[in-house]
Formats: sequence, structure tokens, C-alpha cells
Amino acid sequence: MTKKGMLIVLSGPSGVGKGTVRQAMVAKYGQQFRYSISMTTRQPRPGEVDGADYYFRTKTEFEDEIAQGGMLEYAQYVGNYYGTPLRYVNQMLNEGQDVLLEIEVRGAMQVRSKVSDGVFIFLTPPDLHILQKRIEKRGTDDSATIAKRMQKAREEINLMTNYDYAVVNDQVDKAVDRIEHIIASEHLRVAR
Ligand code: 5GP
Repeated sequence: MTKKGMLIVLSGPSGVGKGTVRQAMVAKYGQQFRYSISMTTRQPRPGEVDGADYYFRTKTEFEDEIAQGGMLEYAQYVGNYYGTPLRYVNQMLNEGQDVLLEIEVRGAMQVRSKVSDGVFIFLTPPDLHILQKRIEKRGTDDSATIAKRMQKAREEINLMTNYDYAVVNDQVDKAVDRIEHIIASEHLRVAR
């Protein structure tokens, strides 16, 4: 029997740079795991591609997927659904491949309650001020949305204690190497 793959959950507050760190992980260590593409009802940003960045779906399509039990986890975030399709994750884990999820914190907690042997990594900003600057610099959100995201970020940082590891995202390449070390160590565990 093939040894099951490891589920790696990368989470943390919005704007902490999860997406950037995940992309850098995929670029540098993408041979070592499968990235699970999420489903969302939000509009694509310029340059985003359906089936690569997200599966962009309507609210009805998303809710049908939930009703059919097709989501490992999902959450509503700033007015839109985001979630992880279950089938791909199961298939890859069963084939012995590690799978990386990059998701917000409520979704991560749902996975935590379902997958007892997952590895849960919380990405933290060096501080909240830097987080706000990053969100503003991204330039895709208006000020009301920025305020909402910041409030959410404060609440989310309090959830860190539910994770196995905390990684500071002071520099992307450093954060990526810290995560890679975590994954390598987890593979050396005698028992999980
Ligand atoms: P964005 O709209 O900036 O791409 O993503 C907003 C938030 O949704 C980010 O914190 C991102 O990590 C999170 N997110 C992306 N995909 C998923 C998912 O499949 N499930 C959950 N729960 N959150 C997700």
C-alpha cells in the first residue's frame, strides 16, 4: 500500500503574504508537493486565470458543490465564498503526494477538525502596521475593504495557538525556507 501523503495547511491573516509565499513555495519546491487550487465566487483580478489561480464560480455553483459534499472546507470572506475542493486533495493524498493548501483561518480550523495528521503552519506579519501597508500597497482594495481586512487580521492573529508552527513572513525567501524545513522535519517524524 502506498504511504499516504501529508496535508500541509498554510494559513494566517489576510495581507500577511500567504499568496506570495505560496507562489514562491510552488516555484522553488513545487516538485515536492501538489498545490490545491481553491474555488471562489469573487471576481478574477487582472491577470488571474480560471483553473490556475482559482476555480472562479458563481454563488449558485459554489453552493451546489457544498450541498453535494464536495468541499473539504469553505468560508465566506469579505462577501465571497472560498473553499477547497475535496476530491483532488483526497486523490493526491491517496497517491502518496503531499498537498499544500493556502487558505484563511476559519477554513484552516475546519480542516484541523477533519484531518488529525495535517501540518498546520501559521504565517505571521512582523507587525500589524506592516500588514496594513502591504494591503494598501497591493492597491486592489478600497479603504472600507482595507479597514475590514485589518479588523479581521487582528482577530485572526489571536488564533495562532491552534497551529503547529508559526512562521514570520519578514522576507519571502526566508519564510519559504522555514516552511521547507518544517516539511522536511515532519517527514522525519517517527510517529504522527
Ligand atoms: P484573495 O481574495 O486575496 O485571493 O483571498 C482572500 C483570502 O481567502 C486569503 O486569505 C486566502 O488565503 C483565502 N483563501 C483562498 N483560497 C481559500 C480556500 O480554499 N479556503 C479558504 N477558507 N480560504 C481561502
